[in-house]
Amino acid sequence: MKIHEYQAKDILAKHGVAVPRGEVANTLDEALDVAKKLFANGASGVVVKAQIHAGGRGKGGGVKVAKNIQDAETYIKQILGMQLITHQTGPQGQKVSRLLIEETAAIDRELYLGIVLDRAAAKLVFMASKAGGMEIEEVAAKDPKAIHKAYIDPAVGFQPYQARQLAFALGLKPTQINQAVKFMLGLYKVYIDTDASLLEINPFITTKDDQLFALDCKINFDDNAMFRHKELKELRDVAEEDPLEVEASKYALNYIKLDGNIACMVNGAGLAMATMDIIQYAGGSPANFLDVGGGANQQQIEAAFAILLADKNVQAIFINIFGGILRVDVLATAVVAAAKNLNVTLPIVLRLEGTNVEEGRKILEESGLKFAVGATMKDAADIVVAAAKGGK
Ligand code: GDP
Ligand code: MN
Repeated sequence: MKIHEYQAKDILAKHGVAVPRGEVANTLDEALDVAKKLFANGASGVVVKAQIHAGGRGKGGGVKVAKNIQDAETYIKQILGMQLITHQTGPQGQKVSRLLIEETAAIDRELYLGIVLDRAAAKLVFMASKAGGMEIEEVAAKDPKAIHKAYIDPAVGFQPYQARQLAFALGLKPTQINQAVKFMLGLYKVYIDTDASLLEINPFITTKDDQLFALDCKINFDDNAMFRHKELKELRDVAEEDPLEVEASKYALNYIKLDGNIACMVNGAGLAMATMDIIQYAGGSPANFLDVGGGANQQQIEAAFAILLADKNVQAIFINIFGGILRVDVLATAVVAAAKNLNVTLPIVLRLEGTNVEEGRKILEESGLKFAVGATMKDAADIVVAAAKGGK
């Protein structure tokens, strides 16, 4: 689950991590009020920041610094409501419906801090780099040595000596080291306390008067841990998410939209991955990842169908089921009902194995609808790829 920058900064502030003064605003009036208040309290400038769930806002024109209230008003009008396009939004962009208005900082240096799970090392890794403010993926590709890493032993957690090493690696001044250590330990605590899966401060800045601030903050949470964070769950902004993925989450379906034209309906994440692979191997391209889960019922399967069909790129549907907890006859009944209810005209190709597979096949045959059933997974993949290429 992703959240907005202003929400992430609230969490940082609650953990004692320094963030600039500022407030979120949903309308022009609210934004102007915040800007006026900041100027009245002595701010030398304010920064107007688009709140969307994507990075690269600065380059896309979604972050602007204003020296006076007139400029602030101009930028607020420009950014609020705009369709902001960044390298993370896709070409259609994302509509900006709220702003963060903050006091500007007198930036001396722009640095980078991040915490993420390193799956290969089976440990969290704390990263720090002097190359802040730019895309860290680019730094990692061009100059991996520019990213300093501290691997965190899960038994003892992130240690002050590790934070000190990173602070020195960033070339911070002696007067900034202790403050930086406290800052990094605070970030680690946020990561652990919230069951985050990613926490990034880019840029992490030093100011001309030796202060440290998180100028930007991105936090992603582990969806599987959200059941124990009711207060964090409320931060979800579904307007920022793919509408089909939101719909799928209502039915506890694991759905991720992709760019291909073969829709997949599979039970089990491993089988879903294998299905996407075999479609590629057969020369096709999957339209989605969809795991209906081990115990899917008729309602979920109908919902899954509706979601798959709502994707206009889809030319054919591949149902790959290994009947275990989800018996094949139950699935077949649901597929027939959904195909009839929703008037599906696209080719449907199935590969079925497991419990009650014979009953399942019979239900499909007797339905009066046209289904293709592959003898093997590869066979079914070849059929569905050909069907998708044929258009109908
Ligand atoms: P992103 O582009 O989505 O990652 O948004 P950021 O919040 O990182 O902002 C992009 C860039 O805008 C930063 O790297 C800074 O260079 C600049 N910026 C953001 N806030 C301020 C500020 O308060 N003062 C100044 N001078 N620049 C800022
Ligand atoms: Mn940033």
